[in-house]
Amino acid sequence: MLYSNVLVLNKSFLPVHITNVRRAFCLLYAGVAKAVDSQYKTFDYESWRQVGIERNDETVGLVDRVIKVPRVILLIAYDRVPKRRIRFSRYNIFARDKNTCQYCGYKFSRSELNLDHVIPRSQGGTSTWENVVCSCHRCNRKKGGKTPDQARMKLIAHPRKPAWTPPLNVSLREIISKEWAPFLDFMVDVSYWNTELLEE
Ligand SMILES: [Zn+2]
Repeated sequence: MLYSNVLVLNKSFLPVHITNVRRAFCLLYAGVAKAVDSQYKTFDYESWRQVGIERNDETVGLVDRVIKVPRVILLIAYDRVPKRRIRFSRYNIFARDKNTCQYCGYKFSRSELNLDHVIPRSQGGTSTWENVVCSCHRCNRKKGGKTPDQARMKLIAHPRKPAWTPPLNVSLREIISKEWAPFLDFMVDVSYWNTELLEE
């Protein structure tokens, strides 16, 4: 129990980290973090100690009493988002291109878009940020196995690696707590959309 996962939020309620129960209690006790309940209410160590324990709650025994295990804590003074490497994934390519076909410039739903190798793989094109873009089915058929030049098509923007920092990426295995759900809604279909694509 002491080594099970606790989600750590920054003071803007953005998930930044995962820690364990033991460390979470240290942070609470030191006054640098607060516990967060399912109503988004925050509690310092003293007030968390007073929280009533219900039948199905997880608890740990401290020196003088039993205390409820916090599953989400918030760092009082920390407002940044740590820099993380951005995954080369479908999700992030669609986000970079804003669900817009990079040839015709129209916006589509995700299911109407696919990923296109600008220089086709058959001509030595790589699976990299600079060579993969969103394209609609129609443009994709038109382009076929050609380069934009060969197909007489033009990209609306030069593809680049995005500069933003991705949100905390939590694998489904790490999620042990329903209390995390409100803070992790971006990752519903994470397994398909955010699997690292192979860079070849
Ligand atoms: Zn298109």
